[in-house]
Amino acid sequence: METFKVKAYGTQAADKDLELMNINRRQLLAEDVEIDILYCGVCHSDLHTARNDWKGTTYPAVPGHEIVGKVTAIGSKVTKFKIGDLAGVGCIVDGCPHCKEEQYSADGFTSTYNSPDIHLGGTTFGGYAEKVVVKESFVLKVPDNLELSAVAPLLCAGITTWSPLRHWNVKEGDHVAVVGLGGLGHMAIKLAVGLGAKVTLFSRSTGKVDDAKQLGASDVVISTDEVQMNKVANTFDLIIDTVPYNHDVNPYVTTLKTSGTLVMVGYLGELYPTLNTAPLVMGRKSVAGSVIGGIAETQEMLDFCGEHNIVSEVEMINMQDINEAYERMLKSDVKYRFVIDMASLKNS
Ligand code: NAP
Ligand code: ZN
Repeated sequence: METFKVKAYGTQAADKDLELMNINRRQLLAEDVEIDILYCGVCHSDLHTARNDWKGTTYPAVPGHEIVGKVTAIGSKVTKFKIGDLAGVGCIVDGCPHCKEEQYSADGFTSTYNSPDIHLGGTTFGGYAEKVVVKESFVLKVPDNLELSAVAPLLCAGITTWSPLRHWNVKEGDHVAVVGLGGLGHMAIKLAVGLGAKVTLFSRSTGKVDDAKQLGASDVVISTDEVQMNKVANTFDLIIDTVPYNHDVNPYVTTLKTSGTLVMVGYLGELYPTLNTAPLVMGRKSVAGSVIGGIAETQEMLDFCGEHNIVSEVEMINMQDINEAYERMLKSDVKYRFVIDMASLKNS
């Protein structure tokens, strides 16, 4: 298959920094859209992948799945986009055409990065690059009334929190809690508030109280303070837990109402201390999980954000600052999503 080269940032090994490299993109197939990437958000999953935290990374790895840009070329059968349109690409670039929720397809799906590339061999490369080529049915329409750089994080942080809010049918008057105020956490607050819920933030960080309230939370509970935790026992219909590392989930379960659900979106792995089932049994409570969101649901979320003027709080960085940004993300030192200005890569 014919290819063309673009500049990208990726890493050759788990213990190496990301660096400038050239990667191949396929020449357009009939249903493909070529997007000139203007901004790409920096998700904690990018860091997990670059550093092989989940043990499945193939190198070189080029992360990035919060992509927005402009369409620069279209294949002969493309109908949804024309040259010059705004376009978004999230976590999925190919998958089952029949599954409404591609992310749960029994046949799997192609992730934007670190998935087998069915066209070129090797693995897929993500959005830390000048351009990307994606089948049009996996490309999203971006509302044109929103600040484009602040839209990028909606493509992962937005949809990953929107999907459980919708699945568990959050509505006006429900009480939702969010654990962790980072990229996913701040979008969870904004989206839950947008759906009419009352929102409480659980945070380890005392310094985020004012920010959380500005984002729309009505309360902040410092999760390390037992007195504050006890005060919110039996309070929440739904908790979205965005913490990326193992942590004790039991204290949060006690804050669920009868029949409430705690949804893990941040941590993949075994929990310790182990989960005490007594509060689950006695209160018909659930601990669940959720992964990203399908294409139709992502479009629904983007349209909702367009109508409600919801975008991410972003700190713009240059591509060359990515390694430092990863270190800062590990210290929760970002308000609240790094977004790469891709002009910095093009001009490098
Ligand atoms: P992030 O911006 O780094 O935010 C994570 C937040 O969790 C931090 O701001 C911090 O909030 C809290 N936190 C961090 N380390 C912690 C620790 N050791 N113990 C307790 N709290 C901690 O990360 P993100 O981009 O939002 O991603 C969050 C997680 O979701 C990552 O693991 C990512 O890979 C995963 N993810 C999952 C999906 C999915 O489909 N399920 C999609 C995207 C991302 P406070 O300072 O407020 O405590
Ligand atoms: Zn992500």
